[in-house]
Amino acid sequence: EDADVKVQVVVLGAGPGGYTAAFRAADLGLSVAMIDRGERLGGVCLNVGCIPSKALLHVAKVLSEAEEMSEMGVSFGKPTIDIDHVRGWKEDVVGRLTGGLESLAKQRKVTVVRGTGEFTSPNSIKVGDTVVGFEHCIIASGSEAATLPFLPEDDRIIDSTGALEVQDIPERLLVIGGGIIGLEMATVYDALGSKVTVVELLDQLIPGADKDLVRVLEKRIKGRYEAIHLKTGVESVEATPDGLKVKFGENVETFDKILVAVGRRPNGKVIGAEAAGVAVSDRGFIESDLQMRTNVPHIFSIGDVRGEPMLAHKATHEGVLAAEVIAGHDVSWDVRSIPSVAYTDPEVAWTGLTETQAKAEGIEYEVGAFPWAASGRALSIGRSDGLTKLIVEPETHRVLGAGIVGVNAGELLAETVLAIEAGLDAEDIGLTIHPHPTLSETVGFSAEAAEGTITDIM
Ligand code: FAD
Repeated sequence: EDADVKVQVVVLGAGPGGYTAAFRAADLGLSVAMIDRGERLGGVCLNVGCIPSKALLHVAKVLSEAEEMSEMGVSFGKPTIDIDHVRGWKEDVVGRLTGGLESLAKQRKVTVVRGTGEFTSPNSIKVGDTVVGFEHCIIASGSEAATLPFLPEDDRIIDSTGALEVQDIPERLLVIGGGIIGLEMATVYDALGSKVTVVELLDQLIPGADKDLVRVLEKRIKGRYEAIHLKTGVESVEATPDGLKVKFGENVETFDKILVAVGRRPNGKVIGAEAAGVAVSDRGFIESDLQMRTNVPHIFSIGDVRGEPMLAHKATHEGVLAAEVIAGHDVSWDVRSIPSVAYTDPEVAWTGLTETQAKAEGIEYEVGAFPWAASGRALSIGRSDGLTKLIVEPETHRVLGAGIVGVNAGELLAETVLAIEAGLDAEDIGLTIHPHPTLSETVGFSAEAAEGTITDIM
C-alpha cells in the first residue's frame, strides 16, 4: 500500500500522552506525525478534563471563600453569576493551551493529521483517504466516559463533558459516582448554587484514598450538599417533563439534571488494532511492557489506554519514555509512586503506599500524622479542616506513602512524591527547614511525628 505520509514515528491520539511523545520524538530528530479525531489538540485533559475542570473549580473556590468571609467579618453579599461569561472564560483558558500546542507542533515540524485513525496493517494507519506509513507507532488513544446501560436518552443526563459545558445551573443535581471526577464537578455546581446529591455504590467516597483523609472532605460537604448516599446504586431513571425521576435505595426523587461519573473506558477497541496484530483486553486496554512496547514490538502504548491510573501526569511520563525507547535510549519505567489528587474542597491527595493497601497486603508500616487544627497557617486562613500524614517503614522510617487532605493538598503533596522517589527517610524531611507559617510545615511536622521528635510549635 502506498503511503501518503511516511514517518519514522506516528502517534495515534493527541492528548497529554500523545503530544508529549510526539514532541519528544521530534526533539530527538525523528520524523513524526500525530493523528487526532478532535477539532483541537490536547485530548481529554486539555479540552474536557483536567484544565476546564480546574478553571471552573477556581471559580467555585472564590465563590465559597467569599461566602465564608462573613465569619471573618467581611460580607460580599449574594454573587451575581453570568454563566455564559464563566463558560467563555473557561473556553479561553482551554483555547490558549490547545492553540499553544498547534504552534509547538508546527515549530517541531510534527505533521498533524486530523480524523479517525485505524490500522490497516502493522505499518500503516488510514485516516479518511490518507494513509500514514510508519516504522514505529505510539498508541495514545486515551479513554472516554463510561455509561450506565439503563439510562434513558435525555439531554438532562450528562457526563463530565456535559457538566463542563455549564449550560445552566440546575436546581437539583444528582451525581452518580463519588469518585474524583464526580466530586470535582459536585464541588463546582455546589458553589454555583445547585443542591447536590451524590450516590456512590461503594462504602466510601473517592475509593482508593484512605478513609481518614476522605472523612475530612466528607465532613465539610455533608454540611453543604443536600445528601450523600454510600453503598447505594441507582436502579432506574425515568424522564418526565417535570424532571428525572430516580430510584435509588429506598428513595424515589426527582432531579433537574444527572451527572453520570461512573468511571472511564479505555479507547482500545476503536483503532482497528487487530489489523496490526496488537492485543486488546476485554475492557479495551492495550497493555505494554516497562518500555511501553505492546505484543507487537514496534508498536507502543501509553496513557489511559495502557492502564490505570488514568492520569495525565502518568500519560506524559510514559510518552517521553516511549519516544526515547524508539530513539534508541536505554530507558524503562522506574517509578516508585504516581500521585493522585482530587481537586475538591478541601483537596484530597495521596501517593505511594496507602494504609488501606498496606493492611490488605499485610505490609508493616507506621504513620506520622499532623492535624491542621494545630497549624498556624491553616487557622489563619480559616481552614483548619486538614490532615497530613506520612506512611513509613517501621525500622528505617523510609517514606513509603503520603496522604494530605486540606486546601492546596495537591501542591503540598509534591514534596512527598520526591521523598519517595529519592528514597528519603522521615528524618530527612523533619530536618528540612520549611518556611513559617506555611501549610508545607504540616509535611515537616508529620515527618517529626513519625520520628517521635515533634514539638508543639505552630
Ligand atoms: P486522552 O487525553 O484521552 O487523548 C486521546 C486522544 O486520542 C483524544 O483526543 C481522542 O479523541 C483521540 N483518539 C482516540 N481514538 C482515536 C482514533 N481512532 N483516531 C484519532 N484520534 C483518536 N488527570 C489528571 O492527571 N489530573 C486531573 O486533574 C484530571 N482531571 C480530569 C477531569 C475530567 C473531567 C476528566 C474526564 C479527566 C481528568 N483527568 C485528569 C484524566 C486525564 O484527562 C487523562 O488521564 C488524560 O487525558 C489521558 O491522556 P491520554 O494522552 O492517554 O489520552
